[in-house]
Amino acid sequence: MALTKKQRQQVWNKSGGKCWYCGTDLPEKGWHADHVEPIYRETKIVKDRSDSPYSHKTVSTGASLRPHKDKLENMVPACAPCNLFKATYSVEFFRKEIEAQIERVRKASSGFRIAERMGIIQPKPNMPVVFWFEQQGHELPEFQLEQEVVNAD
Ligand SMILES: [Zn+2]
Repeated sequence: MALTKKQRQQVWNKSGGKCWYCGTDLPEKGWHADHVEPIYRETKIVKDRSDSPYSHKTVSTGASLRPHKDKLENMVPACAPCNLFKATYSVEFFRKEIEAQIERVRKASSGFRIAERMGIIQPKPNMPVVFWFEQQGHELPEFQLEQEVVNAD
């Protein structure tokens, strides 16, 4: 749902201008209203701009596939990097993905491995990922506790 200026302010006020997940100070412009529980968006396949007749891409139509979760109660303020990385993950899956980063970057980057051997990078693989809202004692939105609406039609 497109938020009004007043609704965006309500989402912002939930943290007083901090990213709900990493706690960074949010810029006045460019912060995201994240759906804590993902709503998923309908996508369609369209031809992309290349000259190849076989080249297509998937784009969002903007329509929510979980409209009952597209509500202010399910929205928190987030920085763009956290929101884009979280994508359609639940909070717990987002945590697991962050925890997996040390090993992924180590495998993918010889520069990381060298920097690690030289001691300028010191990963903390057993350090728990604690989100800003947890450090602050905020609960996840009550909305999350509602049961999934099952449409029997
Ligand atoms: Zn963040």
